[in-house]
Amino acid sequence: MHKTSGQRDPAAAFPLPLERDDAGERRQANRAVGISAAGLAVTGLAELLIAILTGSVGLLGDAIHNLSDVSTSAVVFLGFRLSRRGPTERYSYGLERAEDLAGIGIALVIWVSAAFAGVESVRKLLGHGSTAHVGIGIAGAVLGIVGNQVVARYKLVVGRRIRSATLVADARHSWLDALSSAGALAGLIAVAAGQHWGDPVAGLAVTLFIGHVGWEVTTDVVGRLADGVEPEVITAAEAAAGDLPGVVHAHARARWTGRVLRVEVEAWVDPGLTAREADALGHQAATAIAAVRPDAGSFTWITRAAPE
Ligand SMILES: [Zn+2]
Repeated sequence: MHKTSGQRDPAAAFPLPLERDDAGERRQANRAVGISAAGLAVTGLAELLIAILTGSVGLLGDAIHNLSDVSTSAVVFLGFRLSRRGPTERYSYGLERAEDLAGIGIALVIWVSAAFAGVESVRKLLGHGSTAHVGIGIAGAVLGIVGNQVVARYKLVVGRRIRSATLVADARHSWLDALSSAGALAGLIAVAAGQHWGDPVAGLAVTLFIGHVGWEVTTDVVGRLADGVEPEVITAAEAAAGDLPGVVHAHARARWTGRVLRVEVEAWVDPGLTAREADALGHQAATAIAAVRPDAGSFTWITRAAPE
């Protein structure tokens, strides 16, 4: 076992040819995610304080939602840091799954938050609870709308500049989140107009929003931990490897570990090939797969002699 740096690269034999992300663009994306998360954290904390001051459950739910979004960004960061550590002899695939493990924790926090916001809303609705300092509450909801819109705009601009689909999708998420704050605002305006049920009803609507985030995070994490992958990845890898001259049949498997898509191809090749020629085929397969699936981060190539 070589242990020169305490790390080894399991995919070293078949390096994927493409530089997947330009380092500069990745840094810009990370900076955008970090600044957005900081902005949302400030927004969420301010909303939380105002929710406690006013007793508004709509604002409470919206604050919890924004803070859960911040925590998911924190997990992405954590995963990115840990995955850069690289494999060791004990963790020979690296610590990429740390992100998925943390994701389970985040999902639990989101579900508990949703339950909390829901229970508080129902209690206020049934108990005819009152809302104090409605004007400050309205300012808090407006802050929620503005905070999410500013963050959405910022992510969209950076995302388009560096052509990051993830960042653009994230911008859309923040844009939709402004709707949740608008719900809290509508509830408080109803309260100001003398309709006491406005705030708890808005609280229930915002609870549904939190439940939606919880559902997305949960299905994503469970799918990854169960080694789920879009079937197109398999068909694309099998087609790319199977079309190479000398390959009789190719069988592919793939799974995500954290942010890394690991593709494994078992190829039945012409039995007359030498080991060196079979190895060269592996390099060609890596190039072909990287061309169709640029998100592939690790490639394993296994050759078998096809029956004559
Ligand atoms: Zn959200």
